[in-house]
Amino acid sequence: MNDCIFCRIVQGTVPSAKIYEDDAVLAFMDIGPIIKGHALVIPKVHYATLTDVPPDLAARLIAVVQRVAAAQQTALQADGVNIHQSNGACAGQVVPHVHFHVIPRFTNDGHRWNWAATKYEAPAEMTALAQRLRAALIP
Ligand code: 5GP
Ligand code: ZN
Repeated sequence: MNDCIFCRIVQGTVPSAKIYEDDAVLAFMDIGPIIKGHALVIPKVHYATLTDVPPDLAARLIAVVQRVAAAQQTALQADGVNIHQSNGACAGQVVPHVHFHVIPRFTNDGHRWNWAATKYEAPAEMTALAQRLRAALIP
């Protein structure tokens, strides 16, 4: 897809600071880091969201996410790592080519996620949703 910025990075028509590359997976630096060292892991083939990705490729992506996270800890002395992944514009996905954010975290780095937890009206509301999800799971 020529209008996809990440496909253009895969093709090499847009430059990137690459960290890792194999036949199916590319990892490179995010140009707008939440924390310096922030990396992205993507499949070379264009899929829009995580649920579009075949499971074997998803496993390969996660394996690279693990390796990049480990490298952030060893090479950058990160104290921790956040993995962030958005699907759909309503979830905050800006680039519609599936990607994992791998974000190194440092004690007192000053970043705070806006993780505003809410509550269910009653336990039954939660268990009813769990039942609907169980019924919808693809084997
Ligand atoms: P999203 O909001 O879709 O989860 O994340 C998209 C990410 O892609 C953002 O963090 C943004 O900084 C990054 N990004 C957008 N365009 C480019 C680009 O041309 N090069 C690189 N390296 N990162 C990009
Ligand atoms: Zn793409």
